[in-house]
Amino acid sequence: MAELHDVSKHYGDVAALRGVTLSIAPGELVGIVGPSGSGKSTMLNMLGTLDRPTTGTVRIAGHDVGALTDRQLSALRANVIGFVFQQFHLAAGVPALDNVADGLLYAGPSLRERRLRAYEALDRVGLAHRVGHRPHELSGGERQRVAIARAVAGDPALLLADEPTGNLDSRSGAGVMELLRELNAAGTTVVVITHDRDIAASLPRQVEMLDGRVLDGARA
Ligand code: ADP
Repeated sequence: MAELHDVSKHYGDVAALRGVTLSIAPGELVGIVGPSGSGKSTMLNMLGTLDRPTTGTVRIAGHDVGALTDRQLSALRANVIGFVFQQFHLAAGVPALDNVADGLLYAGPSLRERRLRAYEALDRVGLAHRVGHRPHELSGGERQRVAIARAVAGDPALLLADEPTGNLDSRSGAGVMELLRELNAAGTTVVVITHDRDIAASLPRQVEMLDGRVLDGARA
C-alpha cells in the first residue's frame, strides 16, 4: 500500500527524516509513535503525498510519487487517501451532511450522488441522526466522526490520521479508535499517529520514531 525507501526530508538545516525505509501492506493498522519533533507528521505527509522527499522514493498504491505531476498527485490523494486531523477541520456553520459531501467535490459525482454517499458515510460512523447538525452543535467525538466520515466517503484504500484523539476526552477517543478499527476490519489500511502509549499498545503494529529515524516496526 505504501513504501518509503531511504527517504530523507530536510527543512533548511533541519533533517526531519533521515533515511527512513518502511513498508505498509494492504489491510494493516499501524501506529506511528515517538516524541514531539521525531518526524511523525513529516512521515504522514510523505505517506499522504502532501510533501515530496528531499531524497529517496515514496510509492503509494503502486505509484512512484516522485514521477507524478502535481495534478496526478491531487488525483491520487482524492482517489486513494483519506485524511483525519486532530483539529477536525470541519467547515463552521455547515451541516454534517454537506461537510462530508464537499469532501467528494474533487471526485466529481453530482450533488445528489455526493449527498447520498455522505449520508452513507455518516451512517457508517454512527451519525445518521446528526446529518443536519452543524459542527458547533456536535460534541468533540461527534465532530471527529464527521471528519472520519468525510475521509472515508470516497472509499479510500489508505486512511491517515494525525493524532485523531488528541482533542478528545478518553471515552470519545476510545470510540474514535474503535471506529478506526472497524474501518480497518472492513478493508481500509489505516495509519495513526499517536503519542498515547495505551492507544499505540493496542494496535497490531507500531512504528517507533526518534530523531527522524524509525526505531522499530519497519519492514523493508
Ligand atoms: P513530530 O510530528 O514527531 O512532532 P515533525 O515531523 O513535525 O515531528 O517534525 C520533525 C522535525 O522537523 C522537527 O525538528 C520540526 O521542527 C521540523 N520541521 C517539520 N516541519 C517543518 C517545516 N515545515 N519547516 C521547518 N522545520 C520543520
